[in-house]
Amino acid sequence: MSAAILPLCCHCGKTPRRGLHDGFRLRGKLICHGCESLLSQAEQNSLDYLEFMGTIRSLVGRSGRFWRENVW
Ligand SMILES: [Zn+2]
Repeated sequence: MSAAILPLCCHCGKTPRRGLHDGFRLRGKLICHGCESLLSQAEQNSLDYLEFMGTIRSLVGRSGRFWRENVW
């Protein structure tokens, strides 16, 4: 069996259990389901939330409007 190129979550750096279909993509980068649910439960301005915002900003650049309109 040849080694498949598995996607890595750009937030936690892990390979999602169900590969490409586990999570969502943002600008071609994968955010795994685990991180997605972590974010959905994170309180606004909590550490988890702020860390996630840092990841997303690094993907979409300075346009903060992008993730408001496209992620949620
Ligand atoms: Zn993740």
